[in-house]
Amino acid sequence: MASRMLKFTSINPTMPQKRAAEARRSDFQEIYGDYAQTVAEDQAARCSQCGVPFCQQGCPLSNNIPDWLKLAAEDRMEEAYQVSSATNNMPEICGRICPQDRLCEGICTVEQSGHGTVTIGAMERYITDNAWEQGYVTPIKPPREREQSAGIIGAGPGGLAAAEQLRRKGYQVTVYDRYDRGGGLLVYGIPGFKLEKHIVERRIKRLEESGVRFEFNASIGETHKLSDLRDEHDTLLIATGVYKARDLMVPGAGCEGVHKALDFLTTSNRKGLGDDVPEFENGTLDAKGRKVVVIGGGDTAMDCVRTAIRQGATSVSCLYRRDRANMPGSQREVANAEEEGVVFEWLASPEALIDDDGGKLKAVRAARMKLGAPDPSGRQSPEKTGETFDIEADMVIKALGFDPEDLPHLFNEPALTVNRWGAIKVDFATLETSLPGVFAAGDIVRGASLVVWAIKDGRDAAESMHKRMKQMARTASAAPVAAE
Ligand code: FAD
Ligand code: SF4
Ligand code: SF4
Repeated sequence: MASRMLKFTSINPTMPQKRAAEARRSDFQEIYGDYAQTVAEDQAARCSQCGVPFCQQGCPLSNNIPDWLKLAAEDRMEEAYQVSSATNNMPEICGRICPQDRLCEGICTVEQSGHGTVTIGAMERYITDNAWEQGYVTPIKPPREREQSAGIIGAGPGGLAAAEQLRRKGYQVTVYDRYDRGGGLLVYGIPGFKLEKHIVERRIKRLEESGVRFEFNASIGETHKLSDLRDEHDTLLIATGVYKARDLMVPGAGCEGVHKALDFLTTSNRKGLGDDVPEFENGTLDAKGRKVVVIGGGDTAMDCVRTAIRQGATSVSCLYRRDRANMPGSQREVANAEEEGVVFEWLASPEALIDDDGGKLKAVRAARMKLGAPDPSGRQSPEKTGETFDIEADMVIKALGFDPEDLPHLFNEPALTVNRWGAIKVDFATLETSLPGVFAAGDIVRGASLVVWAIKDGRDAAESMHKRMKQMARTASAAPVAAE
């Protein structure tokens, strides 16, 4: 039988159909449809099955991409799911929200040869969505139960991936989170049009059905002491993410109508989940009828502009101090935002926020920038041109990035070592912190990063926690029995 693969010269890359921008603008539903089975098989068959798969090197999880593409092209979907889920705890989530253009797809050989990338992310999503539909995704049944327990602080992707890996080995796992739901930024940060909430909820439910315990509204450092958790569990993982918003340091930054990105997004997500949110109901964090300016050029800024459009803002602009090619956010997301009506002001940096003399925001004054000499990292630094311009605004959303909270202080553990940005210092071979038996993973180690990296860290930390607990069990069983 002729090979199904290497069809990249005869079949064009096709993404699942995207809903029309006009329809997208009024709801928070996923913007991409699903592949039809025949289309998915054809797209998988475009892969050239490289001997040295660069895509795999571009994927932080080293996913076995060529193998699951080949299985999908041959309609061996359950096997494709088994291979895909062997290295990734949430393939359908990464398939939706990884910036593939900067990871696996950006360096796909077929992309590099000018034929257009193999649609790896869309295929990864298809394989696992299909697996859920077909019932291949089932609760974990560990081969044996172990008495030892692991405590995980943070139910974001890092904590959830670690919980799954440890439960697979039979450990008793408790996940603590200060929110009232699991998922971390997957639920309260990232909007539904990129990742619908039921996709995350079914992952949490599966973990619960697998025997993982969740304690919500459990804020370590406030409702629970870290020291108590250390006594209670054999190992601990800190996967608390980064939540301290960087501030805007310009005159007028304190005027009425200026908000933090995560407050805006969390409010919108809570509203979508059916929660009562007074800040939305009273209009403070609702962009409806407002002239919105979002400041920043990362994923968070892209999510804010697109959320503001959906809430019914009259105008939405995004200010970013570098140009389009040098922005940190995904190019695909910029294109989606433009289609939906967002205006981008590239090479523009806020210089002042202007109020109406009563303290209410009325405009943003921006400095026009140009790209100057490269900094030590090789990135061109933005410089002022001397020109300024004003944009009318009655709502400004600051999306300037996040820093870690002061965890040694919050946890009352001065021996927990952090770096100069406040991120937890770990031994990179084991992800163990300066506190023995306490590990750390995800954004709290890396600074604001990506879901796929949090999953990778969670998996690696779980492996180290397993090694440590095995060692502890061995030592305990070798200890001489005390005379009665
Ligand atoms: P988080 O997801 O932040 O989870 C940490 C959890 O710890 C939270 O549930 C929190 O409540 C809990 N917690 C914190 N402190 C405590 C405490 N003291 N006690 C108990 N619980 C605590 N990445 C992508 O790959 N693609 C994207 O498209 C993308 N879009 C993004 C959009 C936005 C708006 C933001 C803010 C980020 C986005 N990211 C994206 C980044 C991604 O969400 C993060 O890198 C990822 O969620 C980090 O995972 P984590 O598990 O380390 O932390
Ligand atoms: Fe690509 Fe992300 Fe999937 Fe890896 S996890 S294959 S980077 S979409
Ligand atoms: Fe297939 Fe592209 Fe990976 Fe090569 S680099 S194995 S063509 S997906």
